[in-house]
Parts: sequence; structure tokens; C-alpha cells
Amino acid sequence: MVRTFAVAWVGAHIALSGQVQAALIVNPAQPITDRINVNLIATADDDGSDSTAGMFGSAAQQAQVFSLVDVIFAQAGIDVEFAFRPGAYSSSFARTGAPGANNPRPQSDLNAIRNAASAAGGVLSGDPNTINVFLVSIVPGFSALSDNATAGLATIGGNGIAYYGGENLLDFAGGREILASVLSHELGHNLGLSHNTLSENLMQSGGGGEDGERLSAAQIQTILTSRFTVPAPAPTLPGDFNDDDRVDGSDFLVWQRGGSPDRLSAGDLSLWRTQFDNVGGATDVAAAAPPVVPEPAALHLAILGVAGFGIAHSARGRCRRAPGAATDSSDRP
Ligand SMILES: [Zn+2]
Repeated sequence: MVRTFAVAWVGAHIALSGQVQAALIVNPAQPITDRINVNLIATADDDGSDSTAGMFGSAAQQAQVFSLVDVIFAQAGIDVEFAFRPGAYSSSFARTGAPGANNPRPQSDLNAIRNAASAAGGVLSGDPNTINVFLVSIVPGFSALSDNATAGLATIGGNGIAYYGGENLLDFAGGREILASVLSHELGHNLGLSHNTLSENLMQSGGGGEDGERLSAAQIQTILTSRFTVPAPAPTLPGDFNDDDRVDGSDFLVWQRGGSPDRLSAGDLSLWRTQFDNVGGATDVAAAAPPVVPEPAALHLAILGVAGFGIAHSARGRCRRAPGAATDSSDRP
């Protein structure tokens, strides 16, 4: 069945000299009840070169970006679970578009990418309720962007996102927040959200230059009724927040990053303490000293010191619907 969706176009965060956003602007987190599964698909050229596999940087940078996405969707009581498709999808068309036809790249390429990936097999998630995100070098609707910018394109209510994150943004806290904000914005589209003009809202369309990632009650309701929103699985072992059948230091890290069922709660921390070592409470808590995690504050300060060279963003006109581009696109759920 072919369904029709408006393609939401979505502004690039072109880096200009300006002010680094201090932090995400979100409403308080809700207890996690649901989950959104995301399949990240790195793309490469046909011969396997120029893979986008490292788009989110080091393991630490990637974890930080993903945890910021979690902070945004925790407003809706949702945990976002990212998984990478093993290996890059070798498709020059997916990565950059047809030669000579990418300045800017046609918006319709998003559907073309998805249809080709569907035909190729083994690229899209086998779960129809998992959102597929193509990590591309040139986003449909855009020309090639610099390493200081990020952009995405998504269907509203459909399954499919094309996303580009400039690598320089990984190097400072404000940049990672921009990356997470745009990625979350595109996820919001797949979850059924359209643009709005609400102040500080995740789905705000451009023009106002207002930053923020808040979700309204109505938006949360829309997200919770999306087919991509599924119940969060109950942990099989109390305190085993990363579901690896062991209650250990890594579960503390998950708690610290807000990934436990009752986000950052004393109750979950207490549960972790009492269940540590998975021995049913006979635990020497003193031995369970949590691992030391590098504080991002120092990094943040260091980056602020160099923000003057222009990586900071200011033009945060996140979303503009392309003029006259109520472009319909077919979407196969
Ligand atoms: Zn948008």
C-alpha cells in the first residue's frame, strides 16, 4: 500500500560565529515506560570507500550524543535505543546522490534511498517498528554541508530519515547538543510530529532562531501513539539497567546517564546498590565503588575557549518547509 506523506524539510545548522548553546532546553523527564528503536545505517560509496561509519566520532562522543537524545525523549518517558546496522551500506547514491544532481540534492532522493535499500535487502531493519536512519554525506534537500553543520530530512509519520552530522560539532558540548537536537527533531517527524512555532520546542520551524527541545503534552501524546513507540521491556534482573544479566559498574553508568527505568532516581540507585554483583543483596556496597567518569565540564570549558573560531552555531533556523515543497512522497510502512 502506498501512503502519502508530506516531506518535512529541515534546516541546516550552518555554523556561524556565535554563541554556544549552554544546554538542552527540555521539560522534566518522565519515568521511562516506552522505547523507540532506531537502526542507524552508515553509508559508503559503491566500492566501500568513504564510509560514514564514524559520523558520531569516538565511542565516548557517540555515547554523549545518544544520551542527549535520551534526555530529549525522556520528556515523553521514552528511551531511545540506537543500534548500528553491521557494516556500511555501500551505495554512492545513498551517500551523496546521483553525480551532478546534488547541488542541492533533490528531496525525493530520500524515498529513492529507502526504496533502493528495501530492494537490496538486509539494509533496513527487519522490524517494521524500528526507525531507519541513513547517515549520509549529502542530505536530500541540501547541498554538501561543512564539517560545522548538521541537517536531516524525514517523512512525517513514515519510516525514514537521512541525516548528516558534521564532525567538528562532536568536539564541544554545544556542538553535540546541536547534533542530538537535529537528530531528535527528525525522529520527531517519523513519530508523527509536524513543525510548529512554539517557543523552545523541538519541532519549531525556523525563523525565530529560538533554541530549545521541549515537547508539549499534545506532542507527547502523538509520540506515545506512534507505531514506532513500543513498551519498554522490563529488566529481567533488578538493577541490571543495561540488560546484560549482570549487575555491575556498567549499570551504574547507565543510571548516571539517566538510562534506568526511573530516570536518575534514588530508588534505582538504591536498587543497583542492593543488587550489585547479582547476589541477591548480600553485597558489600563499599566494594562497589562506582567507576570514575570523566566530567564533561572540563572539556566544555576547553571548547568554549576556542569557540571563537566559528564552530558555534547561531543560525538555528532549524526547520523550514521548502518553499512550495509540500512534496508528496510515497512511504511504504
Ligand atoms: Zn523538521
